[in-house]
This record gives sequence, C-alpha cells and structure tokens, in this order.
Amino acid sequence: MKIRTLNPNLIQLTRLGFVNAYLVREDDGFTLVDTTTSGAGDDLIGAARGAGAEIRRVAVTHGHGDHVGSVDELKHKLGDSVPVLMPELDARIHAGEKVVEGKLPGSWPKVQTRPDVRLQPGDRVGSLEVISSPGHTPGHVSFLDTRDRTLIVGDTYTSFGNVAVSNHFYLRFPLAAMATWDKAKDLESARALRALDPALMVVGHGPAVAAPGAAMDRAIARAGG
Ligand SMILES: [Zn+2]
Repeated sequence: MKIRTLNPNLIQLTRLGFVNAYLVREDDGFTLVDTTTSGAGDDLIGAARGAGAEIRRVAVTHGHGDHVGSVDELKHKLGDSVPVLMPELDARIHAGEKVVEGKLPGSWPKVQTRPDVRLQPGDRVGSLEVISSPGHTPGHVSFLDTRDRTLIVGDTYTSFGNVAVSNHFYLRFPLAAMATWDKAKDLESARALRALDPALMVVGHGPAVAAPGAAMDRAIARAGG
C-alpha cells in the first residue's frame, strides 16, 4: 500500500496502484474514508499507526466493493468501539432493500457489517461535512473538510490523466463510468461539488488535484454539462 501525506490533515492510501482510501486526522485519531478492496485491513490499520494514531471511525463514500471491501475485516479487527458510517441509501441497498428500479451497475459484494450510522447530507463526521452527491450510486456522498476545504469526492470524479466526471466513458479509467448508476444525477452532483470551490480534490481513483476548479470546469464541459 502506497502512503502519501498530502497535508497535515490528510493521508492518501493507494492499493493496487488505483484504489484510494484516506486518513483524515482529528484530535482523537483518524477517520478512515473508504476501505479499498477486501484484505486491506492490516495495511490500513498499520498506515494509521505508522502516522501516529488509531482509526476512530470508518466512513465510506458509497457501497461499491472497492470502497467497502475491507469494512468487515476492519470491524472485526478494530471492534465495536469504532463505528462504521455509510450513506443511507447505499446502506439500505446493502441491507437487501430495493431502493431504486432496475439493476444497479458496479460491484455490490456482501457486507456483513450493519453500519452504526446511516449518513445524511449535512451530517458532521469530525471535521468533515457530508455532502450529497448521488449518481455514481444512489446514496453516494462526498466529504468536505471544513478546516481547509479539501473535498473527498469518491467516484463522482476520477483523475487519471485528465480530471473526468464518471458519467461518461473515459479511456484512462473506464471502470468508473461502467459502474455509474444514473449519469444525469452524477453530472448534476459533479456541478454541485464544483460549486463548493474546493481547495484540494481527492478521488477514489487517481492522484490528488490541488486548486481543482479549472480542471473540474473542463471535466464538466467534456461530460456534456
Ligand atoms: Zn464506485
């Protein structure tokens, strides 16, 4: 697992070269945002300890397998005192509810852990504000760090090569568009995230983008917006 310290509040963890999770530093330890694929538990816990603190909570941007893949393992290893937070609609999908019509694209592996918290837009997770960004999945959320306007956008955007919205096929990372549930909503969310005017954008797949406004504008234009 590749570990990059992006700023004093944020560490990027990259597995398999293309799947990111993030450690967000808080006074009591770390919030882990996303968990990558299955089998990453020890690496994620080790990365936090290497950076000098424990994981205090696990929050995910959405329910796809490359984001919730190690939730069960982390719950098992960290115990019940470390809550798991999942967006409301994606938590209901994982619980077996049918919340939208038709088949959901992307990987929805079995997750045994019932989230301790079902996240709603506007909720706070430490310094992070939960931002509604549906489209890639029905419940997809982003997290805005209110201290420095870092925006963790999950899979609404990718950043291999050009910054791209996941509503359309993009050769450098086609998996994101193939897994996107509602392309119109995804583009609408991409616009809403741009309007937050983030100082730094970090994504589920690809490198961090500093001062991302212009790149987000170009991505939205290419996405048909
Ligand atoms: Zn995804």
